[in-house]
Amino acid sequence: MTNEELWQAVLAEIQLGISRANFVTWFKNTEIVSNDEGVILVSAPNNFSKEWLENKYNKTILKILRGLDEGIKDMRFIISQKELKESLPVVKKSLVAPLEETQLEFEELHVDKETNLNPRYTFENFVIGSFNELAHAAASAVSKNPGQVYNPLFIYGGTGLGKTHLLQAVGNEIVKNIMGKKVKYLSSENFVSQIVLAIKNHKIEDLKNQYRQNDVLIIDDVQFLAGKEKTQEEFFHIFNALYEKNKQIIISSDRPPKAIPALEERLRSRFEGGMIADISSPDLETRVAILKTKEQEKKMSLSNEILNYIATVFQKNIRELEGALNKIANAQKQKNFIINLDGAKLLFQSVTNLPPQTTSPKKIIQAVAQFYDLKEKDLVKESRKKEIVRPRQIAMYLLREEIKSSYPSIGRKFGGKDHTTAIYSCAKIGKEIKENENLANEINLIKQKVYSA
Ligand code: ADP
Ligand code: MG
Repeated sequence: MTNEELWQAVLAEIQLGISRANFVTWFKNTEIVSNDEGVILVSAPNNFSKEWLENKYNKTILKILRGLDEGIKDMRFIISQKELKESLPVVKKSLVAPLEETQLEFEELHVDKETNLNPRYTFENFVIGSFNELAHAAASAVSKNPGQVYNPLFIYGGTGLGKTHLLQAVGNEIVKNIMGKKVKYLSSENFVSQIVLAIKNHKIEDLKNQYRQNDVLIIDDVQFLAGKEKTQEEFFHIFNALYEKNKQIIISSDRPPKAIPALEERLRSRFEGGMIADISSPDLETRVAILKTKEQEKKMSLSNEILNYIATVFQKNIRELEGALNKIANAQKQKNFIINLDGAKLLFQSVTNLPPQTTSPKKIIQAVAQFYDLKEKDLVKESRKKEIVRPRQIAMYLLREEIKSSYPSIGRKFGGKDHTTAIYSCAKIGKEIKENENLANEINLIKQKVYSA
């Protein structure tokens, strides 16, 4: 099989398991650039994709590759050399770092096969601010006394804000400090596929017994269990078995349990029975602090004005901040000199010149419906059902806030309601959002959806 055929086969399999949007976003313009005695190098178009692929898809891809070719030992991601050159027109070819040197950065891929823990995620390199204080405190307490304090520990927050880092840090800390504790970390995709396979092979009891051996079970991104009834059921049994034996369960999700659509009620109430902690977005000051920590880790030394600049441009999440630093590090390495503020501005030109984000009523309605697991048409038509009334008010509020729709036009969109209904709904949500942090979080998550498509 040529590299290209091999990669096509991998992509074909991945495509089965993820949404079209995800697939296009992360796998477009990826390719295998070499296969050196079983070590595969895959190029990603930019650092952001590279990080994402490393974090989210590394294991899946490696597994598929090994399924296709037993000789494959390892896989690493690199940033496409082509893109690097394009984004840095000043770089002379002879200065482009040889591949081998570039690879040194990727030592982080030493994930432990038993626990699935990546040693790079620790408490020591986790920056704490008011945005993640509670989650950190809870995680730290759990790492000292697994199974004894908060069980389960449920951590939620938007993407790139440190959930995986924190979950893995707990795991690493327990392995390091408490002898003989069996820790297992799983992404929920991985969990689902193991269960599906076990059911298919009539091995579900074996698998469940295996899980029951753990002292600490960590399941990341549990929102992906939504709608997977059979998996949820098996999870429920595993959960109970562990819980009854005071074994620690740690879960993360991009939203609170009650906002996960199609989550079985008994599972939801189990999740809610423990400690729920959120991670919100870091403020400017904290973003600068995070950049400073990361900069030290990467042995860089950038001026405060550059760090401030990056923290102002990249506000959404920490993954982006890291991506920006990596981009500067790469550029410096390539050009062999220290970048100044103007250089940094040039480097991020494409980001800062982006047109302001826009959206449409359709996108908002879609996002709200998806978030609350409702049909779009139910959301917009006349219905007084409680589970619809509130999401509808939220949709109205977002139409008003995000695209300044007029009240009469909002009323019309929602089953020909009077404009006073629209005014009432927007005011109600607007007021509540200030008092109710959970609602504010939910609305932020919906906005992320609205602007991510
Ligand atoms: P999530 O799982 O919420 O999508 P991750 O845990 O993958 O986010 O975090 C994205 C990146 O940001 C990772 O490289 C992680 O190490 C880093 N990161 C997140 N939060 C922090 C933090 N508080 N301090 C330092 N690095 C962080
Ligand atoms: Mg994560």
